[in-house]
Amino acid sequence: MKYVGAHVSASGGVFNAPINAKAIGAKAFALFVKNQRQWAAKDFEPKVLDKWFEELEKSGVQTKHILPHDSYLINLGHPVVENREKSLNGFLHEINRCEILKLDRLNFHPGSHLRKITEDECLDNIAVSLNRAIDATNDVKLVIENTAGQGSNLGYKFEHLAHIIDKIEDKSRIGVCIDTCHMFTAGYDIRTQEAYDKTWNEFDSIVGREYLMGMHINDSKPELGSRVDRHDSLGEGKIGWDAFKFIMNDDRMDDIPLVLETINEDIWAQEIQALYDLVEK
Ligand SMILES: [Zn+2]
Ligand SMILES: [Zn+2]
Repeated sequence: MKYVGAHVSASGGVFNAPINAKAIGAKAFALFVKNQRQWAAKDFEPKVLDKWFEELEKSGVQTKHILPHDSYLINLGHPVVENREKSLNGFLHEINRCEILKLDRLNFHPGSHLRKITEDECLDNIAVSLNRAIDATNDVKLVIENTAGQGSNLGYKFEHLAHIIDKIEDKSRIGVCIDTCHMFTAGYDIRTQEAYDKTWNEFDSIVGREYLMGMHINDSKPELGSRVDRHDSLGEGKIGWDAFKFIMNDDRMDDIPLVLETINEDIWAQEIQALYDLVEK
């Protein structure tokens, strides 16, 4: 069974995320657990938390189908140790907020070498940061997102994800989120059944399908392999509907959050319904 939703707004209070998810017929959702462009955040007030749990229950969305996304400021592979520590502290703060909200996973972008260190050094930094984050916290699974490989962002190759996972001591705390736009612009084709199977077989053998804990479902404005991260509405970009039909009929994607980050939120309800309509009975 598939659980589709979108990255909904939590502005005005974290409880608005399940309200906004319910309004578009989402069975899954993503949210920021704090302002994604600032380091600091106020603690959740008790009445905000009460309302979060109340609205979450009303939405009918299960915890395992919620994929919170961390702040864009965090770079766990930062070449400068002080900046890396600041990122780790910010990351720990977000994990704690997920724990308070009783969320079981946190999605993050691996990190950037900023052209100051090699890719391998940066990937090693990321793994060290993650091991420390895992040691310092209890249950939240840390979900690495693949990237388009824009600028010096790592995570655009399955090998990068595997490199990090390989160095994680407690592998029960690590997962992967695959973004279709990032996958495609990083050079992994999914537009025909043959290409789709080839790409996902590669994922299974290099990363391992047991790590797949969520997906971002986006079409792509740029071409295959362009290494540019620009999302598009489903069917409007260079990927097209066939790929989304393959996903909706692939049991790898059962029971994990499938989250739209497409550019026109006014049509999210239609996009969610259109994805469910692709399921072959
Ligand atoms: Zn994404
Ligand atoms: Zn993106």
